[in-house]
Order: sequence, then structure tokens, then C-alpha cells
Amino acid sequence: AAAELGLHAVTAVSAIRDVVMEHEEALGNLDAIAGDGDHGIGMRRGVDAANAAAQKTATLEGGASVAAVLTAAGEAWSEKAGGTSGALWGTAFIAAATALGNRDSYSSKDAAVAVGAFADAITTLGKAEPGDKTMVDAILPFRDAFIASLDSGTSVVEALKGAAVVSQEAANATSALRPLKGRARPLAEKSLGHPDPGAISFGLIVERLGQHLDN
Ligand code: ADP
Ligand code: MG
Ligand code: MG
Repeated sequence: AAAELGLHAVTAVSAIRDVVMEHEEALGNLDAIAGDGDHGIGMRRGVDAANAAAQKTATLEGGASVAAVLTAAGEAWSEKAGGTSGALWGTAFIAAATALGNRDSYSSKDAAVAVGAFADAITTLGKAEPGDKTMVDAILPFRDAFIASLDSGTSVVEALKGAAVVSQEAANATSALRPLKGRARPLAEKSLGHPDPGAISFGLIVERLGQHLDN
């Protein structure tokens, strides 16, 4: 059963790869407004490597657990993406994987803990605060909405879909902010009126994960 769940982790990573590929150019263009334009290619490199590592791990003899698949994916993502967002995504993947561990089944509580670990890893490593105009501005509202829905008895899939909507609204709302962290800071005025690329990519990814798990 653990190895079967590991295969579900592989298809989830593959769904993330699909959505990043579909939006690669748009994410690069968004990052070019006030950053260095590499958010699309960086996310693409990271998720391609993560996807390959996940597949390789799951096809090892005897299969692999969710934790093993997602840890391999996170390590590859950090290593190959380059850039700030790659290090953050990779580290957060590993933190979520560690929280999920190697079990035969998962509860809503496990999903809440994993999302909490993902968000904590991003803020611990990146040290961005809410309002700094980073992916944190999409991740924390996502986490809070997801956990609140689960606490009120909503299923994981429905909680994920609802939290993804909240996250995308929060990502769009970063348009009004001036960047206080990361490369976009020196070009703060140019960034006004445009959303943060890392917040947008996070919103797109969780939206796709919700659709993926609904199928
Ligand atoms: P780089 O900035 O190194 O070129 P990317 O373009 O791939 O890397 O990613 C930029 C995104 O990374 C930003 O839009 C922002 O969301 C996120 N980011 C940058 N610095 C931080 C930080 N300290 N904490 C959280 N997210 C950050
Ligand atoms: Mg960049
Ligand atoms: Mg860069």
C-alpha cells in the first residue's frame, strides 16, 4: 500500500510539471517586469528534474513511499532549478515529505500537517513576511484556508480546491504591493500593478493539484 501511494505522489508531481510547462513563458514574462525574467525557466528546470527523480524513485525495485518519492523530487528541484524559488520549492517539498512519512494511509490531519510543514519551510528558509510581495503572500492564505476547511469537516480534495481559489486571489492581490524581498526589490516601482511571479505560480500549482486529485 505504501508503494501504491508512492505512485500517486509521482502522478501529482507530473501534474505540477504540466501546469508549470503550460505557464512557463507567462511566468518568465511576469518576472521580467521587475525581476530577471527567469521564473518560468527556473520553475521548469526544477519541476522537470523533480518529475524525473520521482519517477526514478518509484520504479526502484519494490516501489517507494510517498516520503521517498517527494524527498527525491525536492532534492532534484533544489539542485537543478537554480534561483531563489527553486531552493524554496525543493526545501518545502522535502519538509512536506518528511511530515507525510511512510504510511499505509493518510488522514485529513496528515494533509494539514504536511501543508503546514511546507509553509513553515518556506518562511524559515526565505524569511519573508506577509506583505513582502513574495510567494509567501499566496502560501499562507492557502494554508490557513485549507486547514480551516479540514477542521470544519470538508474533504481533502474540496478543501484543496477552495484553498487554491483563496491562494489565487491572494496572489493577484500582490499587484498592489511593493516587493520587499528578493531580486525585484531594486525595481519596486516597476513591480507595482503586477503580481508577484512566485505567488502566481504557487496559485496555479495548487489549482492544478486540486483538479488532479478530483479526477
Ligand atoms: P530569482 O529571484 O532568484 O530569479 P525566481 O525568479 O525563480 O528566482 O523566483 C522569484 C520568486 O521567488 C519571487 O517572485 C518570490 O515569489 C520568490 N521569493 C524571492 N525571495 C523570496 C523569499 N525570501 N521568500 C519567499 N519567496 C521569495
Ligand atoms: Mg527571477
Ligand atoms: Mg534569477
